[in-house]
Amino acid sequence: QKFRDAPFPPAIMDELQSARYGAPSPIQAQAWPIALAGRDLVAIASTGSGKTLGFLLPALLHIQARGGDPALGPTAVVLAPTRELARQIEAEARRFAHVVMNVEAAGSGRQQRSGSSSRFGRHQRGAQRWEVEGGLRTACIYGGAARSVQLEQIRRQPHLVIATPGRLLDFIEAGEIRMKQVSYLVLDEADRMLDMGFEEQIAMVARSMSADRQTLFFSATWPDDVRDAAAAFAKRRAVRLF
Ligand code: AMP
Repeated sequence: QKFRDAPFPPAIMDELQSARYGAPSPIQAQAWPIALAGRDLVAIASTGSGKTLGFLLPALLHIQARGGDPALGPTAVVLAPTRELARQIEAEARRFAHVVMNVEAAGSGRQQRSGSSSRFGRHQRGAQRWEVEGGLRTACIYGGAARSVQLEQIRRQPHLVIATPGRLLDFIEAGEIRMKQVSYLVLDEADRMLDMGFEEQIAMVARSMSADRQTLFFSATWPDDVRDAAAAFAKRRAVRLF
């Protein structure tokens, strides 16, 4: 497998080239076509496998294709067990976020809500495009840090939210962030999230989203509780990469 076989636009290819990665990792080569086809995925993958770009690059293209109105909440959410992992994932996303431009508004005729800031996007009449300055916006939300800083990030209307489950649920329950528009959900290091007791919070976060979303489930191990969670959160017809 070579990067030039990967189904990404030139801007992302250029970024991959400049990272000087030799070739896609096995999980990337396998996960990209499945994720880009809109299918659910259950994968056993550990740190160092390249799983992060395995789910992130399709997430960026999903957001670009789906568009949507960022005022109505994010399009993609990644749940991770720890603040450190969430921040690493966000850093990877931001390396590529600037190349994803012109995120289109979903549907025709949806108007930008009057009063919403033009700082974040300019609605061009007729073209139905959001010209996103600086590309796609991300937010990183985790416990143990000031809520106010994270609320600022939410108010900037991110397309992609990377979060630990407990703090994200806090914001959902407080009505600070809406999940109805989420159509791409990643559970990263699901086994660690379960070990840390996040199962109920994950379930509540997932319930706040549309059931017809795409779900990508990653775990380093495959014990019974992880199997049950994969069955609960991913569709029965999810592709399995073991
Ligand atoms: P991950 O398994 O996603 O935590 O990735 C581990 C590290 O490998 C990260 O620093 C990535 O930037 C890097 N990486 C991701 N994809 C590739 C690749 N195809 N070739 C070499 N390194 C990669």
